[in-house]
Amino acid sequence: MTQQEQMKLVLLYTLSELGGGGQRSYVLDYINSSNYWYKNDQRDVIRTSRNESAWRNNFSYERQHLVEHGYMQKNGNGKWLITDEGKAHLELLIKKAQILKSSDHICFTPVFFQKLFAIQNFDEIAEDQQLVEQISQIDSELIDAPTDILNIPQPKGAISQRSANRNIYLRDTTVAKRALNRAGHLCEIDITHKSFLRRYGNVLYMEPHHLIPMSFTDYFGVNLDREQNIFSLCSNCHNQIHYGAKKDVRQLISKLFLSREYEIFSILGRDITVNELFQLYGVL
Ligand SMILES: [Zn+2]
Ligand SMILES: [Zn+2]
Repeated sequence: MTQQEQMKLVLLYTLSELGGGGQRSYVLDYINSSNYWYKNDQRDVIRTSRNESAWRNNFSYERQHLVEHGYMQKNGNGKWLITDEGKAHLELLIKKAQILKSSDHICFTPVFFQKLFAIQNFDEIAEDQQLVEQISQIDSELIDAPTDILNIPQPKGAISQRSANRNIYLRDTTVAKRALNRAGHLCEIDITHKSFLRRYGNVLYMEPHHLIPMSFTDYFGVNLDREQNIFSLCSNCHNQIHYGAKKDVRQLISKLFLSREYEIFSILGRDITVNELFQLYGVL
């Protein structure tokens, strides 16, 4: 998906979210405050001759294209308004956003992606819980010998089900077990954290947690069900990451992230900042 297409997607989506559109400044302020685009007033250092952020100017330019194609109204009396053709085009762009490739330079934010596909926090937690349940049935001492972990991006894995608007990807119990094994069945927030012995297998009970949430698989366009992305956490830390106070969650995530920064980059095939990670968790 090209940057122009992404910009069109964000703009048309915003207009339809605003019930059709609004004044130019209102629309752009909305994109800015919603944190939909990678550049916003805080992050854009370039100013136009009118002393406006360059990204606003870029959106105005893209608006021209949309008008030319009949996707936005030509004369809105200063208002930016979506047309019926624009609404149909938006549907098409949303479909394109679902098949992003890791090589695409993604410029809309995880926040926007989350909104677009109505990704809910509880989806991730429910799927986590399912995995915890599944691995509890497997004898931990019967895990195959660790295989070579390749620090390169891999294509997205199998889809386990399609929810209303997004793909849910399969979580492999073997991969999760290997990740716990790799951590020595200790909590990676603090190895002194207490736990209990598993029913099957003579190891401590720990829960696998995907640092880059699996629900963002389509955003990154790569397989996120990788040992490098899975952390071994005691029940308490795992629950805190999902249900804790935002400032504490930020601390936990940062700690995990910094301990494996380069492995995470290598499987994503790109860099990610700790702030982006906070966005993924909605704790910015
Ligand atoms: Zn989790
Ligand atoms: Zn812990």
